[in-house]
Amino acid sequence: MRGAVIHAPGDVRFETLDDPKILHPTDAVIRTAVTCVCGSDLWPWRGLEPIGDAHPMGHEYVGFVEEVGSEVTAVKPGQFVVGSFATSDNTCANCRNGFPSNCLHREFMSTCQADYVRIPNAQGTLVATDEVPGEELWPGLLSVSDVMGTGWWAADAAEVKPGSTAVVVGDGAVGLCAVIAAKEMGAERIIAMSRHESRQKLAREFGATDIVTERGDEGIARIKDLTDGIGADSVLECVGTAQAMQQALHSARPGGNVGFVGVPHDVAIDGQELFFSHVGLRGGPAPVRRYLPDLIERVVTGRIEPGKVFDLTLPLDQVAEGYKTMDERRAIKALLKP
Ligand SMILES: [Zn+2]
Repeated sequence: MRGAVIHAPGDVRFETLDDPKILHPTDAVIRTAVTCVCGSDLWPWRGLEPIGDAHPMGHEYVGFVEEVGSEVTAVKPGQFVVGSFATSDNTCANCRNGFPSNCLHREFMSTCQADYVRIPNAQGTLVATDEVPGEELWPGLLSVSDVMGTGWWAADAAEVKPGSTAVVVGDGAVGLCAVIAAKEMGAERIIAMSRHESRQKLAREFGATDIVTERGDEGIARIKDLTDGIGADSVLECVGTAQAMQQALHSARPGGNVGFVGVPHDVAIDGQELFFSHVGLRGGPAPVRRYLPDLIERVVTGRIEPGKVFDLTLPLDQVAEGYKTMDERRAIKALLKP
């Protein structure tokens, strides 16, 4: 088979690789239906995260089950499946407590930009759709494996409630999906912070009621203007930079909550400031597996259309172009078709 391998910053190649095999009785092998490039894949691409030895890339996937290990009974060959970027057994204490992305047997997926993928912990990780969905639903289902699940987590962690005001910091694919989540959870006012016209348009389509283009102190001031000087009930931080986190913490009202789902890079939080703010803070890798059945249902029934975050489709062998286009912000998110 063939798949993407990163060798150095800016150097992703589509190469011939060994076909994945069942290594453990709990594994499955799937044939990729569609996969994609994640914003977080851009950190090593940009040289902002060490790469070490050349290695495969990709953690978002939907596909057809090819083969299962002897202990996998939940899915069978031929089924269309969705899984999380973090695998989980769905039985350990952390899974039972609702945090499968902190499963005691967790393995992060990292080889998904390829024709075939081995899924560890397949029994707990994979969820099959009732029937093979039409191709038009594949992008939406793919988004559920990471960005839509992560956007949902941002809203869940920030405790978005019916009638509330939510602020979304970040207009990447996760931020846009977070707008969908806030809307689905009943937020009455959804303020998206975005400076890019095409992304603002999609944010509005997904349910944003207001757009704030300012950043930093000016952005915080705008949010205060829009919330009677108090701040928002919920703030969904979907970037992971120091500036985005500051913006999020200062945009929440006393007693409000910040859900932070952007992988933090150089983020430091002032304890005194947090203490006196009365703002609640929760984040981490999204417990996507917990949300899968519900989000799959919402996508299959057409209630939500997170697949719209893919504004570029490329053949899988042009995966490097996907990185480049996203790095240059010419695309929100690149869909890759084997
Ligand atoms: Zn577990």
